[in-house]
Amino acid sequence: MRKIPKTNIKTPKIPKGKGTKPFAILFIIALIIALIAPQIRNTAQFSDEEIALNTLENRFLSGSYSEVLIDGNKAIATWSGSEVSEAGVTKTRRDIVILPKNDSLTDLGLKHPEIATNVLVKDNTSSEFWSDMLPTIIAFVLFFIIAIILIGRMGGMANNAMTFGKSRARLYDKDKDKVLFKDVAGADEEKEELAEVVQFLKNPKKFKDIGAKIPRGILLVGPPWTGKTLLARAVAGESDVPFLSISGSEFVEMFVGVGASRVRDLFSNAKKIAPAIIFIDEIDAIGKKRGPGLGGGHDEREQTLNQILTEMDGFDNDTNVIVMGATNRADVLDKALLRPGRFDRKITVNLPNLQDREEILQIHARNKKVESDVDFHSLASSTVGFSGADLGNLMNEAAIISARYDEKIVSQKRISEAFERLVMGLRKKSLIMNEEEKKITAYHEVGHALVGKLLPNTDPVHKVSIISRGGALGVTWFLPERDRLLTSKAKYLDELATLYGGRAAEEVFFGKDFITTGASNDIEKATHIAREMVMRYGMYEDIGRENYAGERVSGNHLGVSEEKSSFSDETMKKIDAKVTEILNAAYALAIKLITKNKKLHEQIATDLLAKEEISKEEFDGYFA
Ligand code: ADP
Ligand code: MG
Ligand code: ZN
Repeated sequence: MRKIPKTNIKTPKIPKGKGTKPFAILFIIALIIALIAPQIRNTAQFSDEEIALNTLENRFLSGSYSEVLIDGNKAIATWSGSEVSEAGVTKTRRDIVILPKNDSLTDLGLKHPEIATNVLVKDNTSSEFWSDMLPTIIAFVLFFIIAIILIGRMGGMANNAMTFGKSRARLYDKDKDKVLFKDVAGADEEKEELAEVVQFLKNPKKFKDIGAKIPRGILLVGPPWTGKTLLARAVAGESDVPFLSISGSEFVEMFVGVGASRVRDLFSNAKKIAPAIIFIDEIDAIGKKRGPGLGGGHDEREQTLNQILTEMDGFDNDTNVIVMGATNRADVLDKALLRPGRFDRKITVNLPNLQDREEILQIHARNKKVESDVDFHSLASSTVGFSGADLGNLMNEAAIISARYDEKIVSQKRISEAFERLVMGLRKKSLIMNEEEKKITAYHEVGHALVGKLLPNTDPVHKVSIISRGGALGVTWFLPERDRLLTSKAKYLDELATLYGGRAAEEVFFGKDFITTGASNDIEKATHIAREMVMRYGMYEDIGRENYAGERVSGNHLGVSEEKSSFSDETMKKIDAKVTEILNAAYALAIKLITKNKKLHEQIATDLLAKEEISKEEFDGYFA
């Protein structure tokens, strides 16, 4: 069993915009409202008519007005009982006289000075301003507070939207973060293909002169942590052009329209600084197949995708921008993305092989102080299935452990510790087994190791341990000597017996009634292997060389993986019986081998109990 903890590798981020722009926008909106508001109020409440001064005088004398008010250069006379209703709006009828620029009322030349005594002179400065503006100001402040509260509620979502059209792409510092091909270990074929792109970015003219068309979009496909991002950056580094990077997942859960405008920004920025590379990581997040599907709501994704396609289609021969995308799910990508002129070139990035792993380890040892006698080759051979990032992690973990022990240099021992920690999870000191459990675990593990050792088609035993790590009480590691691409039926059968070695040992040494739950994981794995042998690999001719498991259909319209298969109930019964038969045979074989080697088993288990761990060399010593 192997568990590889994935550690999140952080990519440098350029800090987000501070979001001052939206506040400015809010401010302007509020200001406009503030300016319009009094206007609205005036027209809503009054019906004004401009009249001559003597008309006012006459009306005043006839007692038409309830009030005459001097407001700046205006005399405003309000009719008494003059509410007029116009289209449902109640208005007060007023007469307005624009006064000549005279200060005192007596200077106005009124024929009837008594008017003056009835006139209110409004202090036109502060008080009127405040009484007029106060409601507006309150409204303004309220609006602002509410807006801020709303934005706060929308939280992260708003944070993204706050920068509105800004592409938020990360632009790597060309010199500081420079990555070159030599920083990417292995991946020779990938580099070879990408070298052409580098050539083009370095000297676009050469290609254009001869009429060559350079691919616009390059898709890097491969499992996570295999160095896709690293490769893309290396292309930028080698060609010495800016690298604009954005992740597809950033577009999801954004306001509709923001993604598209961000893409537009991104491409226009890139064109400005061309030649350049646009890197869209996790492109599957936006480029998923568009289908009838349930739950619309993918508008944003679709608009973003469309915008990318539009931009790429809009490239002409003078656009020296190359778009690189990365995904670990090329199968789910929309066909529209893969059409000529778009991401028409696909480069597969694989998990590193033995030699690659050794190189990757060395690359990650470069910037650390590592003892010269560290055996990277054997380390590489025991890290089958590790990705580039896992290996980087391993070296980093080793450095961390060394530093914790105040060591100046990373030794082989610390690297081994880091390896074990990564593979099996942290050594759990708190998980203490009682003597009985320890004994059962030791016999169980030796059961795996012994059966594995005695059968010809299994991988060598690397280590047997009863030190609890992660979730497992004990562990027996079998490590392949080389990467295996094909597995034979014989190997599967030996593996099945080996998996049952643990349970078989429990039965042989403690009795049928004292077998434990410790074998559940082994049984699960064994059952899976047996079913695959029968249903997928056609290894049993009496059942048939047919695929009963169905093709693997990844992601139906509900986004759920399903297996389609059609065969009769009768076949189903036959398959079930076959699987049981295979597993019973494997178990019987394990029992037979252990019973035959009871003495040896007992001896190894006793040693294991004492030492807690038995190395490959020690284990092989029992069989010398
Ligand atoms: P991906 O984009 O495929 O998920 P990354 O490029 O982000 O993977 O790789 C993560 C890290 O793993 C890199 O930053 C690097 O440290 C390490 N790594 C992966 N592949 C390689 C490699 N071939 N050579 C050196 N380091 C690698
Ligand atoms: Mg990546
Ligand atoms: Zn087991």
